Amino acid sequence: MSINLHDKKEKQELKIGILAVQGAFVEHKKAMEDLGVSCVLIRNKKDLDSIDGIILPGGESTVQGKLIRALDMFSTIQNKINEGLPVLGTCAGLILLASHLETLPVSVKRNAYGRQLGSFVTNENVGNIKDYPMVFIRAPYITETKNDAVEILSIVDKNIVGVKFGNQIGLSFHPEMTDDLRIHKEFLNIVEEYSSIKQDASA
Ligand code: GLN
Repeated sequence: MSINLHDKKEKQELKIGILAVQGAFVEHKKAMEDLGVSCVLIRNKKDLDSIDGIILPGGESTVQGKLIRALDMFSTIQNKINEGLPVLGTCAGLILLASHLETLPVSVKRNAYGRQLGSFVTNENVGNIKDYPMVFIRAPYITETKNDAVEILSIVDKNIVGVKFGNQIGLSFHPEMTDDLRIHKEFLNIVEEYSSIKQDASA
């Protein structure tokens, strides 16, 4: 398939949906806006129309899982991700991908660092991104990858804390809680690529 560069959407024209039923969605919105990209806060099913990528933020995965079902968004989100919609899931968002939507073939352990004293910051590589400041807040980690195509992006203290599978990125930590926008930028590269392939296919 050839990519028609002429029609390729510029980053500024991309529309990123941010699940905004609960949790740290405002911080992701700010990160995207700092990168010059417009966002739509996803609060009901029709907000999912015409987005080029979606962010599932941190928060409480049980609450978020219940709300996306109650708001009748569960299958639409699941189908879109299975069809290739790029997704960045952070912390609770990772748990949603792995244990609720089951689009990301990994097992996660919730509150893996303990509930109360489980918050910490450390620097580690995330794929090609060197020395990234990671903020962990009652974080899960990944105990098992269930598909050979799951790429491990990051390991902290022998535990997997970042993976990529197709257009899905799942992270145990919170890139939206730092000023370092390299992970959001990397996600936008995936979104840009996906959107140009999609446009090319429908041309
Ligand atoms: N402990 C939360 C959960 O299990 C995740 C914490 C977070 O997103 N910071 O859903």
